[in-house]
Amino acid sequence: MRLLSILTTLLILTFETATIANSLTLGDAIDAKIDRRQIHRYDLNRLAEQEGGGWSGNGGGSLAQDNIWFLGSDRTVRYCIERAPQYPISRLRLRVMVRKSIDQWLGFLNRYHLGQAQIDRLISLNAPAMTLKFEQEACQETTDLVFLFGVSNQLIDSYRYLQSEDGLGLAIRRSYNHETRWNPGYIWIDSFSTQAEKVHHLLLHELGHVFGLKHDSVFVMGNHIDARLRSDYFDGPYFGRIESEAWPFDLRMNEERILSSSLGIKEHILPFRECDVWSISSQSIPKVLRDTLHLQPQSCYKITLRKTDRQDQLHSFKLAFINQTSNKRLEFSGSFTDTKVETGHPGPGVYSHWAASSAAKAFEGDVWAYVPFTKGLQQRRKNGCFIVSTQQCIPASINFSRGLSLDMFDGKSQWWSLNTPELRLLEAKKQAPF
Ligand SMILES: [Zn+2]
Repeated sequence: MRLLSILTTLLILTFETATIANSLTLGDAIDAKIDRRQIHRYDLNRLAEQEGGGWSGNGGGSLAQDNIWFLGSDRTVRYCIERAPQYPISRLRLRVMVRKSIDQWLGFLNRYHLGQAQIDRLISLNAPAMTLKFEQEACQETTDLVFLFGVSNQLIDSYRYLQSEDGLGLAIRRSYNHETRWNPGYIWIDSFSTQAEKVHHLLLHELGHVFGLKHDSVFVMGNHIDARLRSDYFDGPYFGRIESEAWPFDLRMNEERILSSSLGIKEHILPFRECDVWSISSQSIPKVLRDTLHLQPQSCYKITLRKTDRQDQLHSFKLAFINQTSNKRLEFSGSFTDTKVETGHPGPGVYSHWAASSAAKAFEGDVWAYVPFTKGLQQRRKNGCFIVSTQQCIPASINFSRGLSLDMFDGKSQWWSLNTPELRLLEAKKQAPF
């Protein structure tokens, strides 16, 4: 959760100042929290040695932070579960939850072809694919991934001490080995809730770090997960999903995404709650735009966006307004071009030292490089317009920032933004305190 940003800061400070301390203990590290000006003085590698392997950002610079933990398609990650006796969820239920969460991620990786090294660059650099086999075992020293439910250890405690806020979960790799690219560690989940959905959601988030997913790369990796889990505004169906309706990992061809969903957001905080969880009230759409689009004034609409074609930099989209009562569908086609503005995330990858394949050796040699496991993510802002009639096209912008968002110009003076429920909630909050 917040740990990554803190460590990134530490690493940046360490590398920028290039100050290496002589001999520092964990106690020194903790003292450094008290005096932040001193924080650059300790060296994470040294700390790692002393603490038996140490920090997740160990070696390879700050980019190693988000590295995928386990690489090698012929290997198996052995995992185990430790549970505090008083943990509010039973051992059996946790066991099922862990397996389900792993399988959810494997399904996700498969869906986006992240599990296979099929990128040219990967092959020329001899980068192995992600490890996709996971098997449970009894906890022992050699276990690769230890899930700790309400159980702590010295490493977890030291991290928690360095966190500026009290996080509910952590994913801590003991080190990063650039030769084996096999990096055991812990997932720690605090005893923070009796609601299994919330524990499951946090578990999914922490596991996402193991697969190299960055914060805000997909719904469950949202950066403000602590606040969401602690808040009363979200419930049941909000949790436990890697992707949400409007916040997929990437926008794929012909996949209809619902921009108007408020699934799992408690009703009492939503404006115009007469609409179902898939729809928003047309009252929340500016009148000029409503009239131009021929929408009924007192109705609920499900709003969806679908990418239908791509030719080089030209993208075709279909925007649909589906009336909740009559089910009548109004659809508008639009053409959009990529701008230079990157609004999303780069996807999972590995920063490491790679040996080039024999064919590539003469050309590239061995290199330190960041190898992304995806290419061609739809993450640039796209500008264009939706055709309403032969005379009229409504200017619009499609972004991919904390999920999909759509801005439309009302033709006079106002831009209307439609985005993920979380962002809409922030907007609603600005207008009405609750
Ligand atoms: Zn996190």
